[in-house]
Amino acid sequence: MFQRPAHHRVSSRELVALGTASQVPTRTRNHNGYVLFWDDEVILFDPGEGSQRQMLHAGISATALTRIAITHLHGDHSLGLAGVVQRISLDAVPQTIPVVFPASGRRWVENLCDSTAYYHQERLALQGLSRDGVVSRVPGELHGPAVLRAERLDHSLEAYGYRLDEPDGRRMDPARLAEAGITGPDVGRLAQEGTLRTERGVVRLEDVSSPRPGQSFAFVMDTRLCDAVWSLAAGVDMLVIESTYLDRDSGLARDHGHLTALQAATVAAQSGVRSLVLTHFSQRYTDPAEFEREARTVYDGELTVAADLDRVAVPRRR
Ligand SMILES: [Zn+2]
Repeated sequence: MFQRPAHHRVSSRELVALGTASQVPTRTRNHNGYVLFWDDEVILFDPGEGSQRQMLHAGISATALTRIAITHLHGDHSLGLAGVVQRISLDAVPQTIPVVFPASGRRWVENLCDSTAYYHQERLALQGLSRDGVVSRVPGELHGPAVLRAERLDHSLEAYGYRLDEPDGRRMDPARLAEAGITGPDVGRLAQEGTLRTERGVVRLEDVSSPRPGQSFAFVMDTRLCDAVWSLAAGVDMLVIESTYLDRDSGLARDHGHLTALQAATVAAQSGVRSLVLTHFSQRYTDPAEFEREARTVYDGELTVAADLDRVAVPRRR
């Protein structure tokens, strides 16, 4: 639908980490920020300061963006909105871009969208969230629209985590289709309607296909461990989750409303997450291997301790 640099992409569904630092950027980590490519949907999550330039480094143009989702209005999750929105305007991005955020943060979102003098030609649709639930439907190539929903997290400021669920579909079995004498447009008709009347009798969809589970993705930022973390993470193909602290500083994590790598990895392990992306690291730690070792004590799936500009493909369909 929109132009994007195909040579940078390894999968039609992948996460790009723009930045991976909590609170303040460091010499090696930009402020927090992520882009999820999901077929034609390109969602910018939590643009911290410097996101405009990180997008440039990642080869992602403002024109590619189809949606912006913000978990909460702390600077490491939102300061970059000002620059990105001005870039959307400068580049005359034609599509309307929904911007989703906690409704209690509207004042700051509006400030960030009008922070200096410039000629406004951006088209944004601000969408403040005040309760858990469906945010939107997101187009998908294979199974149709996925559902984007939000759930309230437990942080020092109102914060929402996000989850994207593609509906389950069915995988047609060519041999069984041929056996039933179903070809051409009849295949689509059977998929749509569930049954098809043929010369040989009525064929049911389940006779000629097998279940194909939809893919799912969850984005969990600043929070203490709470029910929403578990329900957002349950069974997802990819979980992007903050692990600001290590377990040895679990008291600090609790006091400041954050997770440890051990907590994040435990959620992933017990929720059947296939690909775990840890991020949003405190500047107090200098060795990323510590996060990996801690997570590996409980989680044995695909693990990424995110670095800036990492690209992580959503795992292949089950
Ligand atoms: Zn943060």
